[in-house]
Amino acid sequence: MSALIEMEGITRSYRVADTELQVLKDIHLKVEEGEFVAIMGPSGSGKSTLMQIMGLLDRPTSGIYRLQGRDVSKLTDDQGAALRSRLIGFIFQMFNLLPRTSALDNVALPLVYSGAPDHETRAKALLKEVGLTERMHHHPNQLSGGQQQRVAIARALVNRPRVIFADEPTGNLASAQAEEILEKLKELNRSGITVIIVTHESDIAAHAQRVIRIKDGEVVSDVRNLSAGAERGPAIGEHPGARHPHPKGLAGVAAFCDGYKENMGSAFKAMGANKVRSGLSVLGILIGVASVIAMLAIGKGAQDAVQRQLSSLGSNLLMLMPGRHSMGGVRGAAGSVSRLTMEDVKAVSRANPHILRVDGNVSGSVQVVNGDKNANTQVTGALPVYETMRAAQPYYGRFFTASENERLARVCLLGQTVVSALFGSEDPVGKTIKINRVNYTVVGVLPMKGGSGFQNPDDIILVPLFTAMNRVLGSKYLRSIAIECDSSEGVTEAMADVRALMRRRHNLSDFKDDDFELRNMADIQAAVSGTTKVFTMLLGIVAAISMLVGGIGIMNIMLVSVSERTREIGLRKAIGATRRAILSQFLIEAAGLSALGGISGILLGAGASYIISKSAGWAVVVSPSAVLSAFFFSAGVGIVFGFWPARKASLLSPIEALRYE
Ligand code: ADP
Ligand code: MG
Repeated sequence: MSALIEMEGITRSYRVADTELQVLKDIHLKVEEGEFVAIMGPSGSGKSTLMQIMGLLDRPTSGIYRLQGRDVSKLTDDQGAALRSRLIGFIFQMFNLLPRTSALDNVALPLVYSGAPDHETRAKALLKEVGLTERMHHHPNQLSGGQQQRVAIARALVNRPRVIFADEPTGNLASAQAEEILEKLKELNRSGITVIIVTHESDIAAHAQRVIRIKDGEVVSDVRNLSAGAERGPAIGEHPGARHPHPKGLAGVAAFCDGYKENMGSAFKAMGANKVRSGLSVLGILIGVASVIAMLAIGKGAQDAVQRQLSSLGSNLLMLMPGRHSMGGVRGAAGSVSRLTMEDVKAVSRANPHILRVDGNVSGSVQVVNGDKNANTQVTGALPVYETMRAAQPYYGRFFTASENERLARVCLLGQTVVSALFGSEDPVGKTIKINRVNYTVVGVLPMKGGSGFQNPDDIILVPLFTAMNRVLGSKYLRSIAIECDSSEGVTEAMADVRALMRRRHNLSDFKDDDFELRNMADIQAAVSGTTKVFTMLLGIVAAISMLVGGIGIMNIMLVSVSERTREIGLRKAIGATRRAILSQFLIEAAGLSALGGISGILLGAGASYIISKSAGWAVVVSPSAVLSAFFFSAGVGIVFGFWPARKASLLSPIEALRYE
């Protein structure tokens, strides 16, 4: 049978400032299974370096190292990690327990990485063996040095190792505690585990069966002391044949989930340990997501309102207006360029056979009074065709008639908002109100148009066109002419004819541009949805930029976190974490951070939209798709921007990380 450890011509050198520092020179060593070996030597002689190479934490510069007869000098990191977690347990001078983590979880951690099932039972059993059952929920900073070292011993034993490496395990302990630890190690050795202990205290070395002394990287003596610790005692931490098999099937899935649970747990612990820092670092994402959600909600609300208003007009409608206006912009003074009259209404209605109805409109603001209640509102003058063209059948009362229009009758219909303002819950039909101090009879109530946006379509008083022109507003010209066609195909034809007609009526020469505005409602709708698309695209760009900024914030904080926790990473690797495990731990942390920012951003954005909708009276629509994409996008940002720091962490060599101060 081959020796447990066999080294031939092992060297290790470091390059420091252009000089080659030979720390280990040509080491030849053989350690049999079951030995208790002490490695002694002055400080700086290379004891720790030798032990780290033996423990697969470090690699020799040259030479051959066989562990259980297998050449391990050329193992990859992850192969090393796997072998380490199966064969080797470490105990360090500085204990190296994970802070803010209970003794129980510290002991169970190697099992998480090796994928063994049933962590807790095993970890509890070992804590009992080292006499810490009462302390298993304590954190390292709540334990004495000796207790911490006993936790570390339990952790080293949890995967049932064949060999334990202890690097000055008593160096930081008072002598009584040191005795205790040493007893424990001897007990382990009696149960069949090989123990290799580095120390510079000869009374500790006296307990060993074999003492190897090194000086300046060379073995200077190798003495066996057969009287020490030769007897065999009862087994501890080892139940023959009880090595856990590699998890398969369901157990494998459970182990996999445990790994993620541990990662999640450590991610939340890390975030919780730095609450302010984590909070600040997700601010970028939070603000970005919140503003995008709020803007999308308000934009969607406004768009819905405009669309509703437009579609209530019908799509087979043409609008003829005087002068040139810029779409959606500020109007020039109405009629400043050309004027529209009732003559135009008559002429237009004969312009094309596709034209069904034509309405002339005027509008202006007025003061209305009912008893002690009054309101400022918009009055619109229209022909009776308005009722069918604009879907304005009164839901209560009646519309005015053509003869009332001819007679300039003082009748009116009220929109819902005006009814509430002037009458409250009273029935308005048949009552008399004053429009600009003149009495009018209410004949009907207009149907609710709903929708809000920037102009309330229910804040309106409708009077006959001629009454409005002659009695209310005193205007001789129309504000607009609405033309209804029989079909959308008819609209195109009618549009050409109306245009030609108006050019003729206004005596426009061929080289002159139109002095009137002719709009197709379908065009207006298309223009509005075009505007919406641009708006959405701009929002998308804003979102992308804020995510970029937020992502850089996350990356920055993750880089800080990785360098702060270098020791922790080294420790995790020493007890068997693979690159993948470290990578996913930090990725989960980054994604968790930014998803947290995303969720708070969504809540803040939705809250802000709600407040805006309440106070400004706009309808806002928080769409579920926006919320979902904000969430996944922000988590994705965490993964993308967290990748580099996480990769950096995963590539740290365990030994560099453990040395890191
Ligand atoms: P000790 O016997 O005290 O445990 P070590 O094995 O820790 O000694 O270190 C042996 C020598 O190697 C020391 O002189 C130390 O300065 C040097 N050394 C250890 N690690 C490095 C490193 N990463 N870079 C350069 N020199 C190192
Ligand atoms: Mg050392």
